[in-house]
Amino acid sequence: MSAFDPMRRAISRRAMLQHMAVASAALAAVPSRVLAQAPASPPATTALPARGEYLIRNALVLTMDAKLGDLPKGDIHVRDGAIVAVGPSLQAAGATVIDATNMIALPGLIDTHWHMWGSVARNMAGEDSKTGYFLFARAVGDVFTPEDNARGVRLSLAEAIHSGITTVHNWAHNLPRPEFADAELQAHVDFGGRALYGYGYAGVGMTNQPINLADLPRVQKQWFSDRSGLLTLGIASRGPESNSAEICKREWDTARQLGLRISTHIGTGMARVKQSQGVKALAEAGLLGPDVILVHDTNYLPEDLEPLAKTGTHISMSPYTEMRTGFGFPPIQPMLDKGINICLSVDTTVLAGNCDMFAIMKAMQNVANGAKQSEFALSPRRVLEMATIDGARALGIEDRVGTLTPGKRADIVLVRMDDLNMAPFTDGVRMIVQAAQPANVDTVFIDGRILKRGGRLQHIDTAKIMADATETMGRVRAGVEKVLERSGVSVVR
Ligand SMILES: [Zn+2]
Repeated sequence: MSAFDPMRRAISRRAMLQHMAVASAALAAVPSRVLAQAPASPPATTALPARGEYLIRNALVLTMDAKLGDLPKGDIHVRDGAIVAVGPSLQAAGATVIDATNMIALPGLIDTHWHMWGSVARNMAGEDSKTGYFLFARAVGDVFTPEDNARGVRLSLAEAIHSGITTVHNWAHNLPRPEFADAELQAHVDFGGRALYGYGYAGVGMTNQPINLADLPRVQKQWFSDRSGLLTLGIASRGPESNSAEICKREWDTARQLGLRISTHIGTGMARVKQSQGVKALAEAGLLGPDVILVHDTNYLPEDLEPLAKTGTHISMSPYTEMRTGFGFPPIQPMLDKGINICLSVDTTVLAGNCDMFAIMKAMQNVANGAKQSEFALSPRRVLEMATIDGARALGIEDRVGTLTPGKRADIVLVRMDDLNMAPFTDGVRMIVQAAQPANVDTVFIDGRILKRGGRLQHIDTAKIMADATETMGRVRAGVEKVLERSGVSVVR
């Protein structure tokens, strides 16, 4: 693991905060009427495909269910959104047959932390403190409209479903007003994917600002009362490294009263308080628990592991952004050794570039093996558990998804084995973790609906989504550049 360099961090953080303060002041001085709205345009989706009755035939089935194991040649019967049966040579008269010969069937992949609004700024973060992610995220966020947030979410969801990710944790931390959340949630409803919606804060880079707790009961009633189970509500807090313990306690109390999952960034080494005190602060305040997902924790202290393990707190790791930002390497083995549940995340495509969960899995195995200097430190099957059932546990939906078990909802991915990078077939789990790419994802079921088939998204207008994202980026970039140039900061081009 890399050594923490407090001097380097202190300098770069100070420079970053200085630029952020200048940029924020300049942005605050811009009357909102000069920030152009996104033009109205037709929707990016048609009606959701119906839940049918299907018989997936002749797949190599990786159930990820400890009792059912792998089936070298198996069938999956799906009806009304649920998995009815998994086994060899199933009979289902009247069901539409999906031929999965030469395909691997696995549970839908699960992301556990993704700032989806920012996807329209893919790879916009530059290489110095004036153009880097944190300054840029704050500046971009300040000029976004609700429709711009929604466009980021739509682009993310389209890419997620294309890539075999059936559940996301939309970690929404650019919600200056309630209508931003409403616009994002409408996108989730239209796309039909499974999601934990982490209702977050008003913008990146502030301190001692609670999320809009008063809006939570309204959002819960308006968007989460249909009990379909596709969408669940949580909160995304600035956490103890940016907020006071009193604010954290107020947020946690409200979330727990409403039965919501709680998530925050922690231990990144970029904290405003002395690094690595976050877990300790949460432990002392009694705020850890199985309903809490902590993100990153690359700069943990050894004494943090015990309380994390004892309370059943989950850790979401996003290896690509952790390395890209210099947070450090994901501390995989120390957490696993303590029995802490690890789940995987995209974080942001501004830094990660894409949402390739296959690549994230491969990075996890390779980072763990590299850190231990052993070819055998972390098995691909263990990593695939992190991307499926362990992610479901973190999000509190393991009774619904995460394994291909009869009675669970039908979130199923079929991956082709007859593509160039998948041939010749050797071992299913290894090929998923080490060889597969989103382009190999042939078919995606979410809640028994086919949202991708034969490599094509079914109800999503990808051309429209890309055009919208491009329009947003052009308009927002011009606004941000004007403001930042006025404050003496040039923006990455
Ligand atoms: Zn994050």
